[in-house]
Amino acid sequence: MPQHRPDRLSDAARELVLGSGCAGCGVPGRVLCADCEAFLPRRASLAWPSPTPRGLAPPYAAGAYDDLLKALVNQHKEHGVLALAGPLGRVLADVVHVLLADLPGGQPVVLVPVPSRGAVVRQRGHDPLLRLAREAAARLRRHGVAATVAQQLVATARVQDQSRLTALERAVNLDRTMRRRGRTPRGRVVVVDDVLTTGSTAREAQRALEAGGVQVTGIAVLAATRLRR
Ligand SMILES: [Zn+2]
Repeated sequence: MPQHRPDRLSDAARELVLGSGCAGCGVPGRVLCADCEAFLPRRASLAWPSPTPRGLAPPYAAGAYDDLLKALVNQHKEHGVLALAGPLGRVLADVVHVLLADLPGGQPVVLVPVPSRGAVVRQRGHDPLLRLAREAAARLRRHGVAATVAQQLVATARVQDQSRLTALERAVNLDRTMRRRGRTPRGRVVVVDDVLTTGSTAREAQRALEAGGVQVTGIAVLAATRLRR
């Protein structure tokens, strides 16, 4: 049976087929209305998870994983609303900008996305984080920052669904599940992800890079979950 692939549709086709509107508030029209776009964060700040995984590089986030950011990340990632890669890439670029200003050390900067799980990428037919990273790098370059994306990390093991695990269980679940590959990147390395929860994924990405001889300057994410117990 042919699979339904909404992620392959253009915005225009999506409008016709799915009758979509703003991914933030649902108003008919564009995938992101002007009001919601104006409401997207333009700043970033440190977002240490609690507890913080030992040795975690400084994590920067544009905001909490709530409301508009959560809706847009979800629509882009899970529902393949690819037109959101532009605005979300802009948010991620701003996060990297703040990180670079806070942690001086020059350019170029190399964005390394955490690896998407293969099955997820195949099933969805797209790699949402890679797309965001590329959008962010392109935007940074337009603003004079020498930025590239390097897919330095591969997932080496199956990871259980994380959603019901505690911070400690996540750390164990993720330990040694990534490996660095390819040429050593030239420049400051920033690990990028969409959402920071316990920090375990970012920490594992950092471990794999460091094990491969690559120093990690910081971590840039769109959103960080609020403290949960
Ligand atoms: Zn809206």
